[in-house]
Amino acid sequence: MLFSRMLIPTLKETPSEAEAVSHKLLLRAGMIRKLASGIYNYLPLGLKVLRKVERIVREEMDRAGALEVLLPAVQPSELWVESGRWDVYGKELLRFMDRHERQYCFGPTHEEIITDLVRKEVHSYRQLPLNLYQIQVKFRDEIRPRFGLIRGREFIMKDAYSFDVDEAGAEACYQRMYDAYNRIFARCGLNFKVVEADSGPIGGSFSHEFMVLADTGEDLLASCTACDYAANLEKAEVVLKAGQPGPAAGPAPEPVHTPKVRTVEEVAAFLQVTPADIVKTLIYETETGPVAILIRGDHEVNEVKVKNLLGVTDLVLAGLIRVQELTGAEVGFAGPVGLKLPIYADQAVAARAAMITGANRDNYHLKNVHPERDFKITETADLRSITAQDPCPRCGGALTLLRGIEVGHIFKLGLKYSKALRATYLDQDGKEQLIYMGCYGIGVSRIVAAAIEQGHDDHGIVFPLALAPFQVCLIPIAVNDPEVWECVERLHAELEAQGVEVLLDDRDERPGVKFKDCDLLGLPLRVVVGAKTLAQNAAEVRHRSASNNLMVPLKDLIPYLMGQIAQELHG
Ligand code: ATP
Ligand code: MG
Repeated sequence: MLFSRMLIPTLKETPSEAEAVSHKLLLRAGMIRKLASGIYNYLPLGLKVLRKVERIVREEMDRAGALEVLLPAVQPSELWVESGRWDVYGKELLRFMDRHERQYCFGPTHEEIITDLVRKEVHSYRQLPLNLYQIQVKFRDEIRPRFGLIRGREFIMKDAYSFDVDEAGAEACYQRMYDAYNRIFARCGLNFKVVEADSGPIGGSFSHEFMVLADTGEDLLASCTACDYAANLEKAEVVLKAGQPGPAAGPAPEPVHTPKVRTVEEVAAFLQVTPADIVKTLIYETETGPVAILIRGDHEVNEVKVKNLLGVTDLVLAGLIRVQELTGAEVGFAGPVGLKLPIYADQAVAARAAMITGANRDNYHLKNVHPERDFKITETADLRSITAQDPCPRCGGALTLLRGIEVGHIFKLGLKYSKALRATYLDQDGKEQLIYMGCYGIGVSRIVAAAIEQGHDDHGIVFPLALAPFQVCLIPIAVNDPEVWECVERLHAELEAQGVEVLLDDRDERPGVKFKDCDLLGLPLRVVVGAKTLAQNAAEVRHRSASNNLMVPLKDLIPYLMGQIAQELHG
């Protein structure tokens, strides 16, 4: 391919709209352009990268026995009403009406559609198991679309759905997808980690997320330095360190005047104690009524764990006025003693002998508060987020916290959708049974950005070879030197004939300009031919991720490049 025939509108300046490095570089490399918030055009080079990801995903899904389908982006509301999600999905679901005033949505995911298809087409155990997937556009009206392709509103997802006769079959399929995902992300050249993820009300360890490790990731993960335990921070279980004091009797609670002293830090400084001596009382509203959550002052509440414990989907901190109504005091002075709300305590709180809490009275706190003696805990559970100081819940080893970008998610659905939509089959005895389901997503367009978050330097993108839009960039020094031109034209033709993806920079530009663009685009192998290299019957080769150049004799050049490519693609 000739550079001059491509549309590669590179930018010298970093666009001010972009925060994330991948977003900046995708714009600067002329790979994407914004159309509207969270909605992007893919230009030829960006599309090439996207297609490479798709191809790897498709090959591995096919290899794992999944069958490709293509489902519509526009989905009728009736199926969502049937599954019960029309009312609970919220504002991320883009809804609209057609000319007959029928309600539709633009699919954010396809459980309803696929379950409807399967309930109509699958009737017998003989047709199962089945795993159907598609690579297709999704729309989610994200509250905060950001970081370019990482969190778009319109994006490309691979979504697969499995259908099995029983739980064992569903688990075997889950394992096959787990293995396929590992192959996919490894083939994409990504440095990733598989973590246990929250599986919501289904519970258990039936959900894994695949995280590309990058400092800029939105997700936090806890990873053990001694064993292979890793979990999303939302999910990572906290186990109490041995030897913590249980509740013991002591002096009665004592009010202390703490004028305008509200936050944990303020109270700790004012009373000359540590944040661990203080217990925060957080008042939340849920769809089943308000609750109080008790968390030690030096810990962070984990709202996912709270939701799972309470079995609720709505969990929001109560507003100022509501807190006053429920506690009788301004925000900052709530406490469990005398509070007429269900009280859920983190296990570190329940293990505390004496603590400082709000007094439910403006400008007062209570000292010497004992759980059980001074107030009733409705339930004690693990309700906080793990920290790097906590031990690994599996082996007790040390944890590190890492940042990651979620690029894949596998999930055991069980009977949730087959029950709601009555997707059944007839078993060997002719009895009607519900189908066991699983769902498996990959953020195809997010991978493009994640690869760049992980692979870049001051000069631009450093693509893994498997995802680069071209494998080789061929740069002639002085396009109008006939000898040079003849040589690169021949190399270009031979490389293309060998199936190597090569971009020949035929522009009449200074070498510096071409080198800069080649670096910006992240092309893995740069080959320079000029009068000087020809004098040695050689070309100068440079790997995008290396800092040194290599002179390779022209006669060896093509095998050398093909060897490098094969090595990087197949290890
Ligand atoms: P997130 O927590 O990042 O919002 P999610 O849990 O909502 O992700 P899933 O519903 O599991 O995501 O979707 C499957 C995959 O699709 C995710 O693992 C992610 O890679 C990708 N994805 C989800 N939302 C977006 C988005 N707004 N833009 C781009 N990719 C996305
Ligand atoms: Mg989401």
